[in-house]
Amino acid sequence: ADRPPHLPAMLAQARSVDASAPALVDGARRWTWGELDALSTRLAVGLRQAGVEPGDRVVLVAPNRAEFVVATHAALRLGAVLVPVSMREAGPGIAFILNQCRATLVIADPVLSMLVPPALSDGRPLTRVLLPGGIAAGGWLHWDALLATDASGFADAEPAEEDPAVLLYTSGTTGAPKGAVLTHLNLVHSVLHYRHALGLRTGETGLLAVPGSHVTGLVALVLAMAGVAGSVVLLADFKASASLALVARERVSYTLMVPAMYALWLREPALHDTDLSSLRLAGFGGAPMAGATIEGLRANCPGIRLFNAYGSTETSSPATLTPAGSDRLEAVGQPLPCADILVMDETGREVPHGTPGEVWIAGPMVVPRYWDNPQATADSFVAGYWKSGDIGTMDADGFLRVHDRKKDMINRGGYKVFSVEVENCLVGHDAVQEAATVGVPCPVLGERIHAFVYAPAVVDTGRLQQELTARCRAQLADYKTPDAWTWLAEPLPRNANGKVMKRSLRERVG
Ligand code: ATP
Repeated sequence: ADRPPHLPAMLAQARSVDASAPALVDGARRWTWGELDALSTRLAVGLRQAGVEPGDRVVLVAPNRAEFVVATHAALRLGAVLVPVSMREAGPGIAFILNQCRATLVIADPVLSMLVPPALSDGRPLTRVLLPGGIAAGGWLHWDALLATDASGFADAEPAEEDPAVLLYTSGTTGAPKGAVLTHLNLVHSVLHYRHALGLRTGETGLLAVPGSHVTGLVALVLAMAGVAGSVVLLADFKASASLALVARERVSYTLMVPAMYALWLREPALHDTDLSSLRLAGFGGAPMAGATIEGLRANCPGIRLFNAYGSTETSSPATLTPAGSDRLEAVGQPLPCADILVMDETGREVPHGTPGEVWIAGPMVVPRYWDNPQATADSFVAGYWKSGDIGTMDADGFLRVHDRKKDMINRGGYKVFSVEVENCLVGHDAVQEAATVGVPCPVLGERIHAFVYAPAVVDTGRLQQELTARCRAQLADYKTPDAWTWLAEPLPRNANGKVMKRSLRERVG
């Protein structure tokens, strides 16, 4: 009887707190919880009338705009499976996802609607809904037409805890994208853990600056709504100045962003003139944060509790968090109380504390499988553990450190080099805005270290190379100094989730 509730029940609970409280801010537009309730009920009924049954996949191709939030509520309340797709996805990627999940209906922003095929490739029909801002051409329903005028008598679905709530396709840097099946149980656990670990209070205001189509943003959105019953302030295209202005204007009290966003905050002159007094919690995750960024935030944003959150699509976001009262941000934190984290050697045995190995994660936040992909499921999950592909160490005091992804580790003549460690050393140089290191094949050493550096203000790259080389020699073991350098004219290439695309860097020099 003490089982955690499903998401429709949590959302209903949140709606019952205060119908007049703010729920949603999108630019100049605002909604209360009562207004959001009415809209999501009308959409849920409209979706049902358009043929969506519980369990059907509803694909959502939209940026962080109000309709994204309304559609999320409606799909969850209907017991449908929400499939958010990044706005940075290309045509073939969108078609792949629609077909792989066998979507019933797609809701698309006008900016990308031309990339949505009229039907699935096996000829099955696809109901297409266009969001406001464009003119619905033939074969498209307009969003407004989907908002049923008579929504009386609608009753929320009552899904089982193992029922899928959301499918999130991982970026597929390794092979074709896989749809991680986030169940109601997975999301309920993530949300409740976040809420309790961070001490969030009912009704708080959160900033959603990472896309809701990515696990960090999606879980942050579900947390803000179902977990906190608060207000969510949307930002679609991240700009440091705009995000800071929103924090001040809307008195935002917590946010979860990726490290690159905080690095941009620190380079934004307006940071020092912005009233950030409302912001008490700032989490980061999705990628490692450089020590220089952590130091910069500590110095420039005192009074904000920073915390590290480590997880992935397959763990429904957080598996570890920096515990309250700890300032050990170089570690990704301690496992959540219900997470079981092992660090394993190549043969599948646990390594001692302090020894690097692959991080395996089990617990109620770990997704059970990939959608319709038994092979990928069998490859990635073993005995209930998800094999993360990350190299980490567990300290004796229960803090996990994540050093690198297995595939990004460089093997230089038998010496293992964590690319992240070298990068952190390079970005510690004042002139360096961004740096990435990759292993490139070398007939003698197996691999050697190639550094890509973005230092836009530097003219004399010869001198910079000398300084960086000296810096690495002074701070790192001698075999970790880069062997070759590329000076970039533009920032590092990143995928839709803000992750550096190391494969494309390797291709440039390989
Ligand atoms: P793919 O596996 O297809 O490349 P992806 O890496 O974009 O997809 P995500 O689920 O977005 O998939 O990313 C999860 C990964 O991000 C983790 O396995 C880890 O490598 C990295 N990561 C997440 N949080 C942190 C963190 N706090 N510190 C360091 N790395 C992190």
